[in-house]
Amino acid sequence: MMSVRTFSLPRFLVALSRGALVTMTTAALCIAPVSVAGAQSSSVPIVRDAEIEALVTDYAAPIIKTAGLSRNAIRIVLVNNSSFNAFVDGRRIFVNTGALLQAETPNEIIGVLAHETGHLAGGHEFKLREQLAAAKTLAVVTSLLGLGAVVGGAAGGASGLSKAGMGITMGGPEAAMRNLLNYQRTEEMAADRSAITYLANTGQSAKGMLTTFERFSNALALSGSNIDPYRISHPMPRERIANLETLARSSPYFDKPDSPALQQRHDLMRGKIAAYTGGGASVLRTFRKDPRNIGARYGDAIATYLNGSSQSALSKIDVLIKEQPKNPYFQEIRGEILLKQNKASDAAKAFQKANALDSRKSSLIRMSYGRALMLSGTPANLQASIKEIKAGIASDREYPTGYGYLAQAYAQMGDMVRSDLASAEQKYYSGKIQDAQIFAIRAQRSLKSGTPEWIQAQDIISAKRK
Ligand SMILES: [Zn+2]
Repeated sequence: MMSVRTFSLPRFLVALSRGALVTMTTAALCIAPVSVAGAQSSSVPIVRDAEIEALVTDYAAPIIKTAGLSRNAIRIVLVNNSSFNAFVDGRRIFVNTGALLQAETPNEIIGVLAHETGHLAGGHEFKLREQLAAAKTLAVVTSLLGLGAVVGGAAGGASGLSKAGMGITMGGPEAAMRNLLNYQRTEEMAADRSAITYLANTGQSAKGMLTTFERFSNALALSGSNIDPYRISHPMPRERIANLETLARSSPYFDKPDSPALQQRHDLMRGKIAAYTGGGASVLRTFRKDPRNIGARYGDAIATYLNGSSQSALSKIDVLIKEQPKNPYFQEIRGEILLKQNKASDAAKAFQKANALDSRKSSLIRMSYGRALMLSGTPANLQASIKEIKAGIASDREYPTGYGYLAQAYAQMGDMVRSDLASAEQKYYSGKIQDAQIFAIRAQRSLKSGTPEWIQAQDIISAKRK
C-alpha cells in the first residue's frame, strides 16, 4: 500500500525549509513562468509505504551513523511530489517521491542523502533560521523584488550572482538577504565536503551525487517552466561541480557500483512509485530501456490493480511471488488486491505472511493485517484485529489511518466509547483538533475519571486549538 496524507509543517519549519526559500524565490520571480509544484503550500503531502520507507532508511542508515548522528533521532519522511527535491528540518530528512523515481541508481539517492545529512550534522537549518531572523521577517524578505534576480543568478553561476548582487544596495533587509545567500553558498560547499567524507567512510562512491548535481548544474533558463526545487535551493555554479568532481574521483570507491540486490530493490521501488503516481504509462516510461526488469513487471501488476483489473493483477503478482517467495511487499500487495475483491480472510492470510517475512516489522503491514482481520468479520478475528492494529499504532503513534482502523474495529464490537476515543486520535493527528475534541468529550463521559483512557481523552480535550 502506498498511502498519502497531508502533513502540516509547523510555521517556523515552513520558513526554514528549502521549499519555503523556493516559494520566496518564485514569488519574486513572477515575471518568469516558473512553477514549483508543492512549494507554494505550507503543508507537505506525506507518503507512507513500508517498502519505500525500509529502502530509504537502509540508504540513509550508514550515512547517518558515520555522521555521528543518532539513527533513532533522524526520521526519513517521503513527500508525495513529482519534482526532484530533498530537504532537512533539523531531525528529519524529507525526500520527494519524484527524486526516488528519477534517480536510476541507489547511489544517486544515497549521494543526495549524504549531502542532506551534511546539512543536518552541520546544524545548517538552525543557523539558517538565525539568518532568516536577521533578515527580519519573511514578509519583508519576500517583498524584495531583487531577491529573485539574486537567487536566479546564484543558480546560473557565480558571475551571475555577483552581477545581480551589485544592483542591491547595502543596509537594511537587503544586506541581510545578501548575507543569507552568501551563507547559503558556504553551507552548500560544507555539505558537499561532509557528504564526500561520509561516502568514503562507508565505502561508497560519490558518483551518484555527482551525477545528480551535474544534472542540476544546467542553466535554469534552459529548463522551461518546470524547475525542480532542488535546483533552486542548491545553486550549482561550475566551480562547485568541478570541486565536487575532483573530490569524488579521489575516492578509491568512485567506480564501485551498487550491489545488484540494492539495485533491484531500487527498481522495485521505482516501479511502485511510477504505478501509483502515473499508472501504466509511467511504468513503461520509467523502464523503457529495460521493459522486462522486475521493477517494470511489479509496476505493471500494481498499475493493473489500481486500474480495477484485480484478477489480472493477482495473476501478475503471483508470478512475482514465485520468483521471490520471501518478498514481504509482494504479499502485501497481494493482500491489497484480495481486499479489493472482498476476500478479507484470504487477504488477512497474505498480510500475515507479509508481516512474518518483514524483518523490520513495519507498523503499516501490521495495521493492514489487523484491518483485513476486522473486515473478515468473525468475532475471534475481531479480537485479533484490535491486537494487531494496536501493536501497529504502538510503533507509529502519529499515523491517523491506524486510529481509523481501530475506531472501526471497536465500533464493530459495539464498544462505542473506545471507538470514539480512537476517532478522537485519528482527527487529532489529521490536524482536525476541534473534531478530535468533540469525540474526546463524548468518550470521556463514559470513562472512569483518572483511568489511562480518561487521561488520553483529557490530553486531547486540553490540547491547544491551532
Ligand atoms: Zn544543500
